[in-house]
Amino acid sequence: MAAIAPAITWQQELARAYTQVSDLLHALDLDNQLAEIPQPVLRGFPLRVPRAYVARMRPGDPHDPLLRQVLPLALEADSVPGFVADPVGDLASIRAPGLLQKYHGRALVVTTGACGIHCRYCFRREFPYQQHQAGGSQAATILTAIQRDTSLTEVILSGGDPLSLSNARLGGWLEQLARMHHVTRLRIHTRLPVVLPKRVDGGLLAALKQWPRQLVVVLHVNHAQEIDQEVATVCGDLAATGAALLNQSVLLRGVNDSVATLRELSEVLFCAGVLPYYLHQLDPVAGAAHFAVSDDRARLLLSNAAAGLPGYLVPRLVRELPGATAKTPVGQPVT
Ligand SMILES: *Cc1c(COP(=O)(O)O)cnc(C)c1O
Ligand code: SF4
Repeated sequence: MAAIAPAITWQQELARAYTQVSDLLHALDLDNQLAEIPQPVLRGFPLRVPRAYVARMRPGDPHDPLLRQVLPLALEADSVPGFVADPVGDLASIRAPGLLQKYHGRALVVTTGACGIHCRYCFRREFPYQQHQAGGSQAATILTAIQRDTSLTEVILSGGDPLSLSNARLGGWLEQLARMHHVTRLRIHTRLPVVLPKRVDGGLLAALKQWPRQLVVVLHVNHAQEIDQEVATVCGDLAATGAALLNQSVLLRGVNDSVATLRELSEVLFCAGVLPYYLHQLDPVAGAAHFAVSDDRARLLLSNAAAGLPGYLVPRLVRELPGATAKTPVGQPVT
């Protein structure tokens, strides 16, 4: 009888994530030519992808929709007009280091700069996390700002990925915020349950169950192939804490820009107990221009996808415009 290997923790699994392009390509039986990437691309935003996510990629397929989201490409170094370092005006919305507010009633905490995976299209790939994240003493400043502003009824824990914090640190945030009764909703924006489902461990579930008021977990899934049985199971675990589960996706050329793919994504999300919330038009961040889909095509794709779905499985197609008072529906006039 084979010995049962001791279970590894999510931190150990995260430490085993691929960080070398050549290792990733080798694991997928792909030609190492794809690895010829200018060093500046990797220095600023290196490869990072957990093995659990790589296991859902199709070996031998350089166009795999999961691989495309994480594989650095030489063309990221091209400068494209309109694609900039801070595409959504994050730096103009900083209320305190690590605390962003753009919209009435809700503020977003950059709890950490760390993520479980590096998505090449990330709008915060150039975000100056060193100055603007809620590490150390900044957490106290942020909590004081939230406590003093009773118009803030919803706090969004974001990053980076807030679930890359330890359960102790995350639990600390929840405990402090639970004392502020004007914060009626807590929202967590995370991709970790998808890219590293082991992250949803007993300690995390216990911390979430402690939250005394409404809880929303917004996942980030772009393609149905990202949801395997293990991901669906942890979605069930998260829902069992009482959290409402929503998903946001980014419309990405070569990843999910087809009617069938968008429909299947909505269907598979719902099977896992997750409702589609937003389909974001790509934020024009430097290095991601090759993922862009035009607004006309985006509207057409979504309306054709909607023709085969119940209304509650159609996400809202939006973009984030600097200075706007909410996410802006694509195709409607900016107010
Ligand atoms: C996107 C975003 C939110 C959340 O907006 P919703 O439309 O409520 O999902 C909140 N704060 C900031 C800074 C954001 O960028
Ligand atoms: S998980 Fe989110 S914040 Fe992190 S790299 Fe991907 S898109 Fe960016």
